[in-house]
Amino acid sequence: MSKYKIVEIFDSIEGEGKRSGQLATFVRTTGCNLRCSYCDTLYALSEKNCEYTELTSDEIISRLNPLYRKVTLTGGEPLFHPNIKELISEMCSAGYEVNVETNGSIRVAPFRVADNIFFTIDYKLPCSDMENRMDKDAFLELTKEDVVKFVIGTKEDCDKTIEVVRMLQSHYGNEMPLIYLSAVCGRISHADIVTFMKSHTELSNARIQLQMHKIIWPDIDKGV
Ligand code: SF4
Repeated sequence: MSKYKIVEIFDSIEGEGKRSGQLATFVRTTGCNLRCSYCDTLYALSEKNCEYTELTSDEIISRLNPLYRKVTLTGGEPLFHPNIKELISEMCSAGYEVNVETNGSIRVAPFRVADNIFFTIDYKLPCSDMENRMDKDAFLELTKEDVVKFVIGTKEDCDKTIEVVRMLQSHYGNEMPLIYLSAVCGRISHADIVTFMKSHTELSNARIQLQMHKIIWPDIDKGV
Protein backbone atom coordinates (compact mmCIF):
# COMPACT_ATOMS: atom_id res chain seq x y z
CA MET A 1 0.00 0.00 0.00
CA SER A 2 1.30 3.47 -0.90
CA LYS A 3 2.49 5.77 1.85
CA TYR A 4 2.20 9.54 1.69
CA LYS A 5 4.51 12.10 3.26
CA ILE A 6 2.16 14.31 5.23
CA VAL A 7 3.20 17.53 7.00
CA GLU A 8 -0.08 18.07 8.82
CA ILE A 9 -3.76 17.10 9.01
CA PHE A 10 -6.08 19.48 10.82
CA ASP A 11 -9.65 20.74 10.90
CA SER A 12 -10.29 24.43 10.32
CA ILE A 13 -12.33 26.81 8.19
CA GLU A 14 -11.47 27.36 4.57
CA GLY A 15 -9.76 30.75 4.65
CA GLU A 16 -10.20 31.38 0.93
CA GLY A 17 -11.80 30.06 -2.23
CA LYS A 18 -15.32 28.94 -3.01
CA ARG A 19 -15.82 27.11 0.31
CA SER A 20 -14.51 30.14 2.22
CA GLY A 21 -15.83 30.16 5.79
CA GLN A 22 -16.85 26.48 5.75
CA LEU A 23 -15.32 23.78 7.91
CA ALA A 24 -13.02 21.26 6.26
CA THR A 25 -10.18 18.87 7.02
CA PHE A 26 -6.85 19.99 5.56
CA VAL A 27 -4.29 17.43 4.38
CA ARG A 28 -0.91 18.96 3.58
CA THR A 29 1.62 16.93 1.59
CA THR A 30 5.38 17.57 1.47
CA GLY A 31 7.25 18.92 -1.49
CA CYS A 32 6.73 21.55 -4.16
CA ASN A 33 8.18 21.90 -7.65
CA LEU A 34 8.01 25.73 -7.52
CA ARG A 35 9.62 28.40 -5.34
CA CYS A 36 7.30 31.41 -5.36
CA SER A 37 8.70 34.71 -4.11
CA TYR A 38 5.88 35.12 -1.59
CA CYS A 39 5.49 31.50 -0.41
CA ASP A 40 4.03 31.28 3.09
CA THR A 41 4.34 27.49 3.46
CA LEU A 42 8.12 27.18 3.44
CA TYR A 43 7.76 24.45 6.07
CA ALA A 44 6.25 22.12 3.42
CA LEU A 45 8.48 22.78 0.41
CA SER A 46 11.08 20.08 0.68
CA GLU A 47 11.40 16.73 2.40
CA LYS A 48 14.89 17.67 3.52
CA ASN A 49 13.75 20.72 5.44
CA CYS A 50 10.39 19.75 6.84
CA GLU A 51 8.94 17.42 9.42
CA TYR A 52 6.47 14.90 8.06
CA THR A 53 4.84 11.58 8.87
CA GLU A 54 4.44 8.72 6.41
CA LEU A 55 0.81 7.59 6.37
CA THR A 56 -1.23 5.14 4.30
CA SER A 57 -4.43 6.29 2.63
CA ASP A 58 -6.44 4.37 5.26
CA GLU A 59 -4.62 6.21 8.04
CA ILE A 60 -5.25 9.57 6.34
CA ILE A 61 -8.94 8.84 5.70
CA SER A 62 -9.40 7.78 9.33
CA ARG A 63 -8.37 11.32 10.32
CA LEU A 64 -10.85 13.11 8.04
CA ASN A 65 -13.88 14.56 9.77
CA PRO A 66 -17.09 12.75 8.74
CA LEU A 67 -19.17 15.62 10.15
CA TYR A 68 -18.10 17.99 7.36
CA ARG A 69 -17.14 15.50 4.63
CA LYS A 70 -14.97 18.19 3.06
CA VAL A 71 -11.24 17.83 2.41
CA THR A 72 -8.73 20.37 1.16
CA LEU A 73 -5.68 18.65 -0.24
CA THR A 74 -2.83 21.15 -0.23
CA GLY A 75 0.94 21.47 0.04
CA GLY A 76 3.47 22.24 -1.13
CA GLU A 77 2.09 20.94 -4.38
CA PRO A 78 -0.09 17.87 -3.81
CA LEU A 79 -0.14 16.76 -7.46
CA PHE A 80 3.68 16.61 -7.34
CA HIS A 81 3.45 13.91 -4.66
CA PRO A 82 3.91 10.29 -5.88
CA ASN A 83 0.71 8.19 -6.11
CA ILE A 84 -1.49 11.11 -5.06
CA LYS A 85 -4.14 10.14 -7.63
CA GLU A 86 -4.79 6.97 -5.63
CA LEU A 87 -5.30 8.96 -2.42
CA ILE A 88 -7.65 11.45 -4.13
CA SER A 89 -9.66 8.59 -5.54
CA GLU A 90 -9.96 6.87 -2.17
CA MET A 91 -11.02 10.07 -0.39
CA CYS A 92 -13.70 10.67 -3.05
CA SER A 93 -14.89 7.05 -2.75
CA ALA A 94 -15.16 7.51 1.01
CA GLY A 95 -17.73 10.26 0.35
CA TYR A 96 -15.61 13.37 0.82
CA GLU A 97 -15.80 16.44 -1.43
CA VAL A 98 -12.15 17.11 -2.25
CA ASN A 99 -10.74 20.54 -3.08
CA VAL A 100 -7.28 20.09 -4.63
CA GLU A 101 -5.15 23.22 -4.36
CA THR A 102 -2.60 23.19 -7.17
CA ASN A 103 -0.05 25.64 -8.51
CA GLY A 104 -0.74 25.75 -12.26
CA SER A 105 2.40 23.90 -13.35
CA ILE A 106 0.77 20.44 -13.60
CA ARG A 107 -2.08 19.20 -15.82
CA VAL A 108 -5.18 18.52 -13.69
CA ALA A 109 -7.31 16.35 -16.02
CA PRO A 110 -5.54 13.08 -15.08
CA PHE A 111 -6.46 13.71 -11.44
CA ARG A 112 -10.19 14.37 -12.02
CA VAL A 113 -11.10 10.91 -10.84
CA ALA A 114 -14.64 11.53 -9.53
CA ASP A 115 -17.50 14.03 -9.56
CA ASN A 116 -16.96 15.12 -5.96
CA ILE A 117 -13.65 16.83 -6.65
CA PHE A 118 -12.79 20.34 -7.76
CA PHE A 119 -9.52 22.13 -8.37
CA THR A 120 -8.37 25.49 -7.08
CA ILE A 121 -5.60 26.30 -9.52
CA ASP A 122 -3.22 29.24 -9.18
CA TYR A 123 -2.11 31.21 -12.18
CA LYS A 124 1.31 32.34 -10.98
CA LEU A 125 1.73 35.98 -12.01
CA PRO A 126 5.04 37.77 -12.75
CA CYS A 127 5.68 38.84 -9.14
CA SER A 128 5.81 35.17 -8.08
CA ASP A 129 8.89 34.68 -10.33
CA MET A 130 7.26 31.40 -11.41
CA GLU A 131 5.09 32.44 -14.35
CA ASN A 132 7.34 30.62 -16.81
CA ARG A 133 6.42 27.35 -15.07
CA MET A 134 2.69 27.66 -15.82
CA ASP A 135 1.30 24.84 -17.97
CA LYS A 136 -1.22 26.64 -20.20
CA ASP A 137 -2.97 23.35 -21.00
CA ALA A 138 -3.87 22.90 -17.33
CA PHE A 139 -6.02 26.05 -17.57
CA LEU A 140 -7.92 24.72 -20.58
CA GLU A 141 -9.27 21.56 -18.91
CA LEU A 142 -11.33 23.12 -16.12
CA THR A 143 -15.06 23.10 -15.34
CA LYS A 144 -17.51 25.63 -13.88
CA GLU A 145 -16.88 24.01 -10.49
CA ASP A 146 -13.15 24.81 -10.51
CA VAL A 147 -11.49 28.00 -9.29
CA VAL A 148 -8.68 29.95 -10.96
CA LYS A 149 -6.85 32.04 -8.40
CA PHE A 150 -4.69 35.08 -9.12
CA VAL A 151 -2.44 36.34 -6.32
CA ILE A 152 -1.65 39.92 -7.34
CA GLY A 153 1.30 42.01 -6.20
CA THR A 154 1.98 44.59 -8.90
CA LYS A 155 0.47 46.58 -11.78
CA GLU A 156 2.17 44.12 -14.16
CA ASP A 157 0.30 41.32 -12.38
CA CYS A 158 -2.99 43.18 -12.93
CA ASP A 159 -2.30 43.45 -16.65
CA LYS A 160 -1.41 39.76 -16.86
CA THR A 161 -4.56 38.80 -14.94
CA ILE A 162 -6.73 40.53 -17.53
CA GLU A 163 -4.85 38.84 -20.36
CA VAL A 164 -5.37 35.38 -18.83
CA VAL A 165 -9.03 36.01 -17.92
CA ARG A 166 -9.71 37.09 -21.53
CA MET A 167 -8.07 33.89 -22.74
CA LEU A 168 -10.25 31.83 -20.37
CA GLN A 169 -13.42 33.67 -21.39
CA SER A 170 -12.65 33.09 -25.04
CA HIS A 171 -12.08 29.38 -24.39
CA TYR A 172 -14.95 28.67 -21.95
CA GLY A 173 -17.69 31.17 -22.86
CA ASN A 174 -20.62 30.53 -20.46
CA GLU A 175 -18.82 27.59 -18.86
CA MET A 176 -16.18 29.72 -17.14
CA PRO A 177 -14.45 28.46 -14.02
CA LEU A 178 -14.74 30.80 -11.03
CA ILE A 179 -12.21 33.64 -10.81
CA TYR A 180 -10.79 34.68 -7.43
CA LEU A 181 -8.35 37.51 -6.83
CA SER A 182 -6.21 38.14 -3.79
CA ALA A 183 -3.40 40.47 -2.75
CA VAL A 184 0.22 39.61 -2.00
CA CYS A 185 0.52 40.73 1.61
CA GLY A 186 2.51 43.97 1.89
CA ARG A 187 2.75 44.59 -1.85
CA ILE A 188 -0.76 45.79 -2.80
CA SER A 189 -3.86 46.61 -0.77
CA HIS A 190 -7.23 44.91 -0.94
CA ALA A 191 -8.71 48.32 -1.80
CA ASP A 192 -6.41 48.45 -4.84
CA ILE A 193 -7.69 45.02 -5.91
CA VAL A 194 -11.30 46.26 -5.69
CA THR A 195 -10.40 49.37 -7.73
CA PHE A 196 -8.78 47.08 -10.30
CA MET A 197 -11.93 44.91 -10.45
CA LYS A 198 -14.21 47.93 -10.87
CA SER A 199 -12.26 49.17 -13.86
CA HIS A 200 -12.40 45.96 -15.95
CA THR A 201 -15.58 44.41 -17.34
CA GLU A 202 -13.69 41.10 -17.67
CA LEU A 203 -13.79 40.90 -13.87
CA SER A 204 -17.51 41.58 -13.43
CA ASN A 205 -18.05 38.05 -12.09
CA ALA A 206 -14.71 37.71 -10.27
CA ARG A 207 -14.47 37.67 -6.48
CA ILE A 208 -11.90 39.16 -4.16
CA GLN A 209 -10.82 36.85 -1.36
CA LEU A 210 -9.22 37.65 1.96
CA GLN A 211 -7.20 35.01 3.75
CA MET A 212 -9.76 34.64 6.51
CA HIS A 213 -7.62 32.27 8.58
CA LYS A 214 -4.91 34.96 8.81
CA ILE A 215 -7.47 37.46 10.10
CA ILE A 216 -8.83 35.03 12.71
CA TRP A 217 -5.40 33.70 13.77
CA PRO A 218 -2.88 36.45 12.82
CA ASP A 219 -0.03 34.98 14.87
CA ILE A 220 -0.37 31.30 13.90
CA ASP A 221 1.22 29.97 10.70
CA LYS A 222 0.51 26.24 10.91
CA GLY A 223 -2.54 24.14 11.68
CA VAL A 224 -5.18 26.82 10.92
S1 SF4 B 1 3.39 26.76 -5.33
FE1 SF4 B 1 2.58 27.24 -3.31
S2 SF4 B 1 3.76 25.94 -1.89
FE2 SF4 B 1 4.87 25.95 -3.85
S3 SF4 B 1 6.39 27.62 -3.62
FE3 SF4 B 1 4.55 28.49 -4.61
S4 SF4 B 1 3.32 29.34 -2.91
FE4 SF4 B 1 4.83 27.90 -2.02
